[in-house]
Amino acid sequence: MDTAMTLETLLVHADADDGEPDIAPPIHQTVPFASASAEDFEELSSATRAQRFYRRYGNPTQARLEKVLAAVEGAEAALATASGMGAISTTVLSLVGAGDHIVAQRSMYGGTLSLLQDLAPRLGIETTLVDQTDTAAFERALRPNTKLIMLETPGNPLLQITDLEAVAGLARDRGIPTLADNTVATPVNQRPLDHGVDLVMHSVTKAVSGHSDVLAGIVLGRSDLVDRIWQTHTLIGSVISPHDGWLALRGLRTLAMRVEHQNRTALALARFLEDHPAVAKVNHPGLPGHPQHDLAKRQMRGFGGLLSFELRGGSDTAERLLAALRVPARSASLGGVRSLVVRPAAMWGQELTEEQLAEAGVPPGLVRFAVGLESETDLIADLERGLAAAFHGR
Ligand SMILES: *Cc1c(COP(=O)(O)O)cnc(C)c1O
Repeated sequence: MDTAMTLETLLVHADADDGEPDIAPPIHQTVPFASASAEDFEELSSATRAQRFYRRYGNPTQARLEKVLAAVEGAEAALATASGMGAISTTVLSLVGAGDHIVAQRSMYGGTLSLLQDLAPRLGIETTLVDQTDTAAFERALRPNTKLIMLETPGNPLLQITDLEAVAGLARDRGIPTLADNTVATPVNQRPLDHGVDLVMHSVTKAVSGHSDVLAGIVLGRSDLVDRIWQTHTLIGSVISPHDGWLALRGLRTLAMRVEHQNRTALALARFLEDHPAVAKVNHPGLPGHPQHDLAKRQMRGFGGLLSFELRGGSDTAERLLAALRVPARSASLGGVRSLVVRPAAMWGQELTEEQLAEAGVPPGLVRFAVGLESETDLIADLERGLAAAFHGR
């Protein structure tokens, strides 16, 4: 494939299966595949990444999804999984074991934090959490047994930025692999591998599939690392269903258009909220007032569809706003066609304790707004009305 093509073209052309006439891909909804001979069976059963042996090892629909995302992220190899958490857990368990140490950001997806703080210690894996805005803090946290550095930028839900090039550089000097969660940015806005990161992952559930009907994940990067992760994957079994893989491929074709629309709308909402007297603080990397706006401009091509804000009035007022809004639904998730709002402290109360939430810097009254594809005019009008209702009970 011509990887010099622009991202928009790659998204549409990269899954043309070599030699097959299908314009839309078929779904390979089978678990076992037949082998023609004893030799074929033996070869397939011992192959790395066989596509036609037994679905836990691979599947042609899954392989197509991996091919498109590898092309748009600029990766050598990819492994699709049953969920974003499946991709993260499988990657961590492949690269780290008892007696090892991980350095990760303090502000990360709630499930990732819970994996590192609750599950990993039971397996003898220690984690140090650092402030992602302080590159030197990553360096200070390193130990001789550090085996992985985990990043997420923009961070969720505070939209803080990690300097990918700086952290990847200090990790590479010491031979420590880096893993970046690129779910919030999407490959349209940011390609961490271009900045020296070793592995990038997505919750395909979010913008990549984009229609809130798929649960899937993917990890991408150097093929030696991805092959190693695949070995663990065949044992953990977080396997993507072919139907979800096919829906994700369908969603991917419009990724560039959807993300560009969301970039524009999110920035417009952020500006509107910043000027609103009821709003105390707005977090969005596209705002010139964002403390890391220059860094965001250096490593991102667009600033994404996610923003968060704090009202003057705390969590009760935030809940009144969520109840008053009519266009976005109150729901977890992001990157879909429908706008979704949530109070992260309420969403992550299941996975994280109050102290863990406070440590992750998530204020109880913070509202997260995941922009969909509705018109900017309708979303702003709804926010205007919702804010008035939250403060004046109208
Ligand atoms: C949703 C999400 C995940 C987890 O993905 P699932 O597909 O729900 O398992 C990981 N990281 C980020 C940033 C997310 O938004």
